[in-house]
Amino acid sequence: MPAIRGADSKKKTRRHTRDFDQIHADLHDKRHLEQFHEAQVLEELPAFGDFYCVECAKFYESEANYKSHQKSKPHKRRVKAMKEEPYSQKEAEAAAGYGTAVTKKPDAEDSMIVEE
Ligand SMILES: [Zn+2]
Repeated sequence: MPAIRGADSKKKTRRHTRDFDQIHADLHDKRHLEQFHEAQVLEELPAFGDFYCVECAKFYESEANYKSHQKSKPHKRRVKAMKEEPYSQKEAEAAAGYGTAVTKKPDAEDSMIVEE
């Protein structure tokens, strides 16, 4: 796998899988996952890409490997982590005080209270 953060990147990318937000989209949008699989070269994948863990974005060589992975701690940890919404740019900007923060509209009752 080529360096994903530029040619000068010192970071190892061999084990780099899909990012959390991509996996989150995979889990909630079938088309998103299909597009990822269509972009792969089947001949280069272990077992022609038959055994794939969506949550961990990993391909496995055999059904036995895949099944033992499904029972493993890293997989369960990942499934749990995937239940949360991924951190987004919008959230980051809101935290920094930019953009449109979601503010609760005043209820009818609140507007009745006269501010002193
Ligand atoms: Zn997994």
